[in-house]
Amino acid sequence: MPDKKDKTKNETKGLRLYIRTFGCQMNIRDSELVCGLLGNAGYKMVEEPQDAGVIIINTCSVRQHAEDRVWSVIGAYKKEQLKRKGKLGEISIIGLIGCMAQNYKEQVFEKSPDVDFVVGPADIHKIPDIIDTLIKNKGLFEKKIWETDGLKRPEHIYHDIGYDSKKHTYVVISEGCSNFCSYCVVPFVRGALRHRSHKNIIKEINEALDKGVTSVTLLGQNVNSYQDGAVDFVKLLELVNSLKGLKEFNFLTSHPKDTTTDLFKAIASLGKLKKELHLPLQSGSDRILKLMNRGYTSKYYLNLTQNYRKIVKNGLLSSDVILGFPSESEADFKDTLNLLKQIKFNAAYIFKYSPRPQTKAMALPDDVSKAEKEGRHKTILDLQRAISKSKVIPQKSPLNAK
Ligand code: SF4
Repeated sequence: MPDKKDKTKNETKGLRLYIRTFGCQMNIRDSELVCGLLGNAGYKMVEEPQDAGVIIINTCSVRQHAEDRVWSVIGAYKKEQLKRKGKLGEISIIGLIGCMAQNYKEQVFEKSPDVDFVVGPADIHKIPDIIDTLIKNKGLFEKKIWETDGLKRPEHIYHDIGYDSKKHTYVVISEGCSNFCSYCVVPFVRGALRHRSHKNIIKEINEALDKGVTSVTLLGQNVNSYQDGAVDFVKLLELVNSLKGLKEFNFLTSHPKDTTTDLFKAIASLGKLKKELHLPLQSGSDRILKLMNRGYTSKYYLNLTQNYRKIVKNGLLSSDVILGFPSESEADFKDTLNLLKQIKFNAAYIFKYSPRPQTKAMALPDDVSKAEKEGRHKTILDLQRAISKSKVIPQKSPLNAK
């Protein structure tokens, strides 16, 4: 008798899957995990949505703009799928996963009736069975499935994946976030901070190294607060650095309030760890930082960067800035500009504030006009471009969702 997994594999054998990923590196990694799960169940990945019977959209809720783009692509994908179904008689299923799934849950079906299933970040391991159920119900009745109540992912999803001769992979070290920065939806959609065990992290990296990976990025919303028994983040970096076969590694993302001198010493001394740090500033105004609930002042941040540069000689430094946060005045904005001029980041990623559901900042009036946000965006981009011109810029944007 075939077991349940085998049955899924038989029914879905050769079914074509397309995944579109919005948002940060955490989402990129989640999409890889979903591809791994569905690849094991017999799916074939395709490059274009029009070639797929099953389309999964992995979404980001961090800015309104990212959400708007998702709503607009769903209808277009459905049209393509139906054209294909008419031609080839294949199944047509669309799933929405990731942060928007968790944010809107079953409301997704009202906002977009073309979606067949909705799965939150802690439930992605259920996707193969969900698609299987939808396929079984095909033609009998219309069924919509949502799974958004999971608290923790099962460990096996981090190990059941292929690496397709890739040289680099992301490795999740912690899920969720408990910082509750007032503008950020992550704690609401990805839940409270949970650390994976260091033994499982090392096991996952070793599995990747055995398959030819040589470079790794450790991922978490706030990696600096990693703790598993006696193993803190610096200790974890030392363990990773000692792995045979690993050529280089880095990590994303750091929170200034948890960033320590010991971390800078580790970056300077560990041979395989890249000499770079992404340290989101968000604002140079102490008043705005307080409203954002960031837990540090501009002076603290400046000292931190000076300390980093003293310890990590020629280390790259990049940051994120949000402008147009509620009540941000010209004076607040100038504080941010001045800090950027002083610190001279190698790169800074500049975002315009947009209110996010459930967050504390949502209760504040979004009172910086669109024109002011645009003007400040241009001013700060021009400044940062001029600074970056004379500096090395990290090749890839870091966690763009923050
Ligand atoms: S901005 Fe980063 S640290 Fe703050 S709540 Fe969001 S994910 Fe957590």
